[in-house]
Amino acid sequence: MDLARTDFYLDGHWVTASSGETIPVHNPATEEVVATVPAGTAADVDRAVAAARAAFDGWATAAPADRAACLGRLHATLTARVDDIARTVALELGTPLKVATRVQAGLPLTVLHGYVDLAAQPPAEQTVGNSLVVREPVGVVGAITPWNYPLHQVMAKLAPALAAGCPVVLKPSELTPLTAYLLFDAIDAAGFPPGVVNLVTGTGPVVGEAIAAHPDVDLVSFTGSTATGRRISHLAADRIARVALELGGKSANVILDDADLPGAVKVGVANAFLNSGQTCTAWTRMLVHRSRYDEAVDLAAQAAAGYRLGDPFEPATRLGPLVSADQRQRVRDHVDRGLADGGRLVAGGPDAPVPDRGWFVAPTVIADVHPDSALAQEEVFGPVLAMIPVDDDDHAVAVANNSRYGLAGAVWSGDGDRALRVARRLRTGAVDINGAPFNPLAPFGGYKQSGLGRELGRHGLEEFYETKAIQR
Ligand code: NAD
Repeated sequence: MDLARTDFYLDGHWVTASSGETIPVHNPATEEVVATVPAGTAADVDRAVAAARAAFDGWATAAPADRAACLGRLHATLTARVDDIARTVALELGTPLKVATRVQAGLPLTVLHGYVDLAAQPPAEQTVGNSLVVREPVGVVGAITPWNYPLHQVMAKLAPALAAGCPVVLKPSELTPLTAYLLFDAIDAAGFPPGVVNLVTGTGPVVGEAIAAHPDVDLVSFTGSTATGRRISHLAADRIARVALELGGKSANVILDDADLPGAVKVGVANAFLNSGQTCTAWTRMLVHRSRYDEAVDLAAQAAAGYRLGDPFEPATRLGPLVSADQRQRVRDHVDRGLADGGRLVAGGPDAPVPDRGWFVAPTVIADVHPDSALAQEEVFGPVLAMIPVDDDDHAVAVANNSRYGLAGAVWSGDGDRALRVARRLRTGAVDINGAPFNPLAPFGGYKQSGLGRELGRHGLEEFYETKAIQR
């Protein structure tokens, strides 16, 4: 399979990129370049936005059933290519193939399926006194996405935007653009009207900023780091454009003294290390009641030691590499700093063995982390778990909320009411009690510096509507 791509998808066609500049795409497990994609320019963004703007009236007023039919055809085409999607993510990101199939390919298909249903229903109207309150598509959407879940992060924007009647210009991460090309092959086959969905690849400072600053983009929907979200907000603020932001996290896993400790620690470690820890919702702080803390540290160290690192295409591999050499260096620096700040290494660490080739970091558990220290406050985005003892429920809540982030979290207790009381007190967009499963129809998003707005399900659709009051 020749993976190199030379085109953008503009106005319903593959169009050869004009600049001639390319961006290399690496296999992080081997450090080899496996493909190149074109580096877009502000002029390419202008063309894409013009195509989307021209498509707006037709798509916004299309019958909901027609929009749902396009999304349904897209779902069918992608479902037929689920193995290619999983293999592409395993190649360009390093997610073990089993996880790539279930999560990286499976989850976005579930999300898309949900929006096929929602797209078929026109938005609810409401009568308020003498006003008819109607919902209308917000306009042209600029979508900018990260590398850690390359198809899911795109689908969480694209599917609801299209369902609501908004054309989209997408810029995927330059580190993992190949999955987006597979998506656009399917979009091309699904028969969307020209201009409704457009793809420009390139770097954040060039293509991303051109989208965020473009006067004809009505909503910038961004997922990525908090620093980039701040920059995008500034650019959008100049023209009072809307922004939806899904940003970083430092989520707490609160294990109370009456919890099923082996279960809580096992699931907690797996959550922290999912996708090599490159997951925005990862429970990277494990807070354990002091009476059971030592036992929990031992269990976490044992669990981490059982993770097998290696080739993402090997069935026995549980942990792949990090996405890039830069990301590996950032993670190593966080581990060094955590140990220098007084953390106690109980698994992994700087000297633990890793494969010779590839950007691997050993699964690492650091105990006795101070709640104010950098390791407890900064997003690491690698397989690194910080463990912190807490005195009681109030202390656990205080430590959990001692963060500028608020994306996700967990509570474990044998008493469901107690767990719910603690869950309600956490200042975070989602909390899972006793390992309850992820719900792709539930609202997803952050408090505080984890973001603005919600994705997924009906709440995710709401982001893409304007509200109009008609008095009569
Ligand atoms: P990033 O912010 O570096 O990049 C994200 C996207 O923004 C990429 O497409 C990038 O090219 C683009 N970009 C970079 N600089 C830009 C600029 N100046 N203007 C416009 N666009 C720009 O983030 P990343 O490293 O790709 O992803 C990791 C981060 O994403 C982590 O912080 C993680 O927590 C966060 N994330 C959040 C969620 C969520 O839903 N809350 C989900 C996944 C990842």
